[in-house]
Amino acid sequence: TLSSGMAAITGLINMLSTGDEVICMDDMYGGTQRFFRKISTTNHNINYKFIQMNNADLLKSSLSEKTRLIWLETPTNPTLKVTDIRAVVKMVKDFNKDIIIVVDNTFLSPYNCQPLTLGADFVIESATKFLGGHSDVVMGITATNDEKLWERLVFINRTSGGVSSPFDCYMAIRGIKTLSIRLERQNQNAMKIAQLLEKNPKVEKCLYPGLESCEFHNLAKSQQKGFGAIVSFVVKGGMDEASKFLTSLKVFTLAESLGSVESLADHPASMTHASVPADIRQELGVVDGFIRLSCGVEDIEDLLKDVEQALAKI
Ligand SMILES: *Cc1c(COP(=O)(O)O)cnc(C)c1O
Repeated sequence: TLSSGMAAITGLINMLSTGDEVICMDDMYGGTQRFFRKISTTNHNINYKFIQMNNADLLKSSLSEKTRLIWLETPTNPTLKVTDIRAVVKMVKDFNKDIIIVVDNTFLSPYNCQPLTLGADFVIESATKFLGGHSDVVMGITATNDEKLWERLVFINRTSGGVSSPFDCYMAIRGIKTLSIRLERQNQNAMKIAQLLEKNPKVEKCLYPGLESCEFHNLAKSQQKGFGAIVSFVVKGGMDEASKFLTSLKVFTLAESLGSVESLADHPASMTHASVPADIRQELGVVDGFIRLSCGVEDIEDLLKDVEQALAKI
């Protein structure tokens, strides 16, 4: 365990050397991107290729002799695109079995997906989110089932000092005890909210892999136990409509984080993804009417009513 998700990520990247190449998702968590682009690229001369990982041809043509590590995030934040972990593992390991495959599994948590069983070498979890589950701890976790890689990583992490405090460990252990019942409820709540959004005339589209209308539905089903607590959707109109919806919510709290027992709402274009240039945001589909919900454990009737009344205010 480490002092934050970002400390876990930094530790893994410390396994690399100058000149190594990393292939990663083009729409990863903003903090990871910032570290890769603004510190690791410039200070350590590690070469990052940001690609659409669910495009197999693109991945194949990006692999090279210098490729040391593949960085996956599935589903992505906030557009919830799912990548076939088994297919990536097969292609990459066929090319060179020594390439390390990392999956940042924060969005699903181990309850909904276990990438090590799908062939990944390392899993990263920001325990700040679902594992802690109560928005009151900051912690990161790295897991592997490869002894050699583990020894190397533990040496790096102990030496670089991003260790977690005893109190944070205590809080995370408490959180993990209820992970399965929280996630079971949060998955259910998310599904019902997605179904409501999909039918509402004020909504342009709802992106939730649990919906059969979602292009990633079958893939998500094949590698996940549940579809997760994050639901993204686009309201018709733009900034004004999104803002009207968000300020009308009473049960959902406007906040950047996710994964807690309380339901949270985020406006990526002005909050979590504001630092992404507007043209790239458009390309990724993160338009001004885009909203991301992290569904909590509250009574589903309260959540549905809240979403419905806020949509009615638009
Ligand atoms: C929050 C988050 C992180 C970073 O975790 P911290 O504990 O906040 O440092 C990394 N990856 C993803 C996908 C996240 O959502």
